[in-house]
Amino acid sequence: MSSLELSPAHFRRLADRVSTLAEQWLEGLDTRRIAPDITGAASEAMFSEGLPEQGLGDTALEALTPLMEGTRAGNARFLAYVFGSGEPVGVLGDYVASVVNQNVTAWRSSPTVVSLERSVVRSLANAVGCPGFTGSFTGGGSSANLMGLAMAREALAPANDDGAPSGVMYASAEVHMSIPKAVALLGLGRKNLRLIPTDSQWRMRPDALVKAIEEDKAAGRRPIAVIATAGTVNTGAVDPLREVARIAREHGLWMHVDGAYGALAAMAHPEKFEGLGEADSLSMDAHKWLYQPADCGVLLFRDAKAARRAFSFTGDYARSLTTDAVEGFAFFDESMELSRRARALKVWLSVRFHGLAAFREAIRRDVANARRLDELVRGTPALELLAPATLSAVCFRYRAGLGDAQLDDFNARLLARINRRGRVYISNATLEGRFALRACFVNHRTTPEDVATVVQEVLAAAEELKAL
Ligand SMILES: *Cc1c(COP(=O)(O)O)cnc(C)c1O
Repeated sequence: MSSLELSPAHFRRLADRVSTLAEQWLEGLDTRRIAPDITGAASEAMFSEGLPEQGLGDTALEALTPLMEGTRAGNARFLAYVFGSGEPVGVLGDYVASVVNQNVTAWRSSPTVVSLERSVVRSLANAVGCPGFTGSFTGGGSSANLMGLAMAREALAPANDDGAPSGVMYASAEVHMSIPKAVALLGLGRKNLRLIPTDSQWRMRPDALVKAIEEDKAAGRRPIAVIATAGTVNTGAVDPLREVARIAREHGLWMHVDGAYGALAAMAHPEKFEGLGEADSLSMDAHKWLYQPADCGVLLFRDAKAARRAFSFTGDYARSLTTDAVEGFAFFDESMELSRRARALKVWLSVRFHGLAAFREAIRRDVANARRLDELVRGTPALELLAPATLSAVCFRYRAGLGDAQLDDFNARLLARINRRGRVYISNATLEGRFALRACFVNHRTTPEDVATVVQEVLAAAEELKAL
């Protein structure tokens, strides 16, 4: 018997211990500091011994407690970056995904889980107003964006066989860093990503997009794709999707929508995302605004043939022996991944448990919480609103008694202080060169009282800072 063998009963005992830890974790979420009180040196020291040569048996699990205590608490007042709140039924779905440990490469490798993923993808596509789209789960929005742009490039400027890709892509100046990264990885060169200026609400300006495309065409360059953002990380701006789609179509360009932050909110607020269904490809992140544990990105596309053109390169060992459309289906023909975990399983279990209506309601509550923070900031003379809540991000700064030259530095130090106090956790954005405090609501736990706490904590931390 392998010394790695573990009896099912022994597994169950260990799992029960982990379940107890999980229960304690959830129970303590609200009262713990969000930012753990730990230094870099201390966290490095916890693991300085590396992996043991001899197994520790059950006592190995004892180290989970200090590990978990040193992590940040994803409670109701964690409002930084764009990161979902880890819905617990989804956590159990992740657990089951590891228990059954399917390799979700192709139907023949994992029949039920492949059908489950195809069904969840279709349901999400319908829910955001993209009926008929198919696609697959990915590690996150970055890989979904990379895959979407690879499809665009292969559709309009094929380079998979001969290499030497060339062409130009367009996105707004508020684009997420994963897009220039993808453009670089695809070999197009970051200087061939045009950053189109935005309007007063941080949305791509269609007139400027047309001008840039025409300039490139006139100079003999090949426009390939326009990337519209449905929810920019800084302010939650949604580019004018219908207008961008029209321009893309008119000029023969691929339209990719980076909806990693915002697109799932189309389930609850379709009116904010008109034109989303006109995209050729769309990335979303269920580990953001569907509250699922990471990693849980999704790429949707209109035409699976374009995905196969970009990704299908089937070695003999992987060639399908059936003509049945379902039984012959392989995710690896439509994705850059081969071995894949059952990411859709957590979404499926979580939504089956709560229902889509509950998710729509939670998203609407996030939007309402953002609007509430917007109003509280407007009503607080010491604070200045820098970007209103259009989706669920709010940018503001402290300004009472400060000269213009002090604002950036003071607010940067203020942010560190707010987070160190441990009650709320927010992040920052740079808007027109100005340092902004930023709260982003993609958190099913947040209540209106928590929103009020954000303002109280900002003011209290500012008083502390001024008293130094
Ligand atoms: C988060 C985000 C991404 C990247 O997604 P990951 O899941 O972090 O890889 C891309 N675009 C936008 C707009 C995002 O908010």
